[in-house]
Amino acid sequence: MTLLRLVFLFIVIYIVYSALKPLLRGGKQPIDPARLGEQMVLDPQCQTYLPKSEAVARQGKFFCSEECAQRYLAG
Ligand SMILES: [Zn+2]
Repeated sequence: MTLLRLVFLFIVIYIVYSALKPLLRGGKQPIDPARLGEQMVLDPQCQTYLPKSEAVARQGKFFCSEECAQRYLAG
């Protein structure tokens, strides 16, 4: 009987663990691993740092938006 109770307890723990597992993983999701260590670039127009992948490249410089690029190159 004792062994049966142990097995039952183990099953209950396993079910609870399985139910909580997605919640524990979900809590870590806001941090995107692909973003970690990504190079940051400075927009010389508005002095804003942003990830290189989101930047607009013009004449070897990086801008946060097309608007900033045009303003910088015009001025
Ligand atoms: Zn900008």
